[in-house]
Amino acid sequence: MKVWMDFLFSVNGRQQQESIDRWVREELGPEQLLTDGGQAGIDGTTYYSLRFQYDHEGQWHIYRRLKEAGVRSGPTYTFEFETTEWEEAPYLMLLSSGNSHRAFLEDRGTLVTLEPACEACGVYEQKPVTPLAADTSVLRDRVLVNGGAGQWVISGEMADWLERRGATGYRLEPLLHQGGETESQPAYRLVVDRMLPVSPEQQFLYRPGEEHCASCGKLNRIYFPYHLEKDALAEPADFALPEEPLAISRQLYRPLFLSRRLYEWAVADGLTSRVKDLLSFGERDWLVHPTIAAN
Ligand SMILES: [Zn+2]
Repeated sequence: MKVWMDFLFSVNGRQQQESIDRWVREELGPEQLLTDGGQAGIDGTTYYSLRFQYDHEGQWHIYRRLKEAGVRSGPTYTFEFETTEWEEAPYLMLLSSGNSHRAFLEDRGTLVTLEPACEACGVYEQKPVTPLAADTSVLRDRVLVNGGAGQWVISGEMADWLERRGATGYRLEPLLHQGGETESQPAYRLVVDRMLPVSPEQQFLYRPGEEHCASCGKLNRIYFPYHLEKDALAEPADFALPEEPLAISRQLYRPLFLSRRLYEWAVADGLTSRVKDLLSFGERDWLVHPTIAAN
């Protein structure tokens, strides 16, 4: 696996641009700088796109240098997996169920409770205490949609498919339809109880300049491919969640893991195409990343 960090930013003003150009020229070796910086736009703004292989100290260094030059820019991260990592992944982590706004279901008044997870920083996990409330008619022919806050919703068609295939590790909770009476359609919240421990090798990413919590490490913790403890994978279930959640600011969430066999069934039965990069990510494709079995 390779991890890239991209710094995208623009400068407007001669002094700032000269300072950035000097830094790029003098300090960044060609092996670090993978795309050329300093593309001038027509409005006098200069756009930079710098790509580096990730390392924790390195990202802070670049962040500070940019800040000194008056630029506020944090990295975005891209992961590049080896073929063997795709083939050997015990689970595929679901990032999205379609390159379309229709892959998201709007909440219509689900009651939730916020469970605090750290006294020091106040991170919390949101859990529904009533059935998910939504207009089920917007699903139409979609089988899997994101219901927000780490919840996934499946159609009646997918519920039948899971049963036919003999999938394990889930329960279904019917949605509360909020919309026109005639237009409701069967839809269920996918409830998954199986939690998988992450390996001691697991690391997480933290963007420079964002607040962190020394006590729990969860605040602003963003995604890094999951390394799952090998021994805990012996008893298979087709759906699982990680014991260690991710965070959007203070809100924690757990991404859904699909077993490899479940993903292969979905590809074979035409529920999704096999997507390995954003270029081939279609309107109703499932975007997944491999997880890695580790000691
Ligand atoms: Zn904390």
